[in-house]
Amino acid sequence: METNESESPKQAKTLTPEVAKREFEKLTHQQIGKLRSQYFTVRLGAVKACGHKFHPTDAPDTNCADCWEAYFRVHEGVVQGIESILATFGEVALVKSHGSKYTKRYKQFAAQMHEERIARMNPTGINEPGFSAIP
Ligand SMILES: [Zn+2]
Repeated sequence: METNESESPKQAKTLTPEVAKREFEKLTHQQIGKLRSQYFTVRLGAVKACGHKFHPTDAPDTNCADCWEAYFRVHEGVVQGIESILATFGEVALVKSHGSKYTKRYKQFAAQMHEERIARMNPTGINEPGFSAIP
């Protein structure tokens, strides 16, 4: 973007809405696009496993297992809320409040977490005598 070097600092301070509007109207379509990209465009990160875009707040609207896993891993509070719903009201309540797809994805995630917990408890993978997966 061009800057007017001859403009004194005093003039720069008297930026009224009218002056700002006039300056804005001088910008080309390309310059406006560049500014919009610089200041307004939200760039989302990607889930490493699949490369899909990761939205920091919303549940995935895809059917990708990796995206759902990333969503649940990042949102510890959401997982606690779901576990609270399941413990208090049961699975039917979770289906009613979040939908069947969401419930299915959560159950897959919970099963995976359970397997990871077991793997951590027995890192060698050897069936030791007296070892039980259930704590
Ligand atoms: Zn994905």
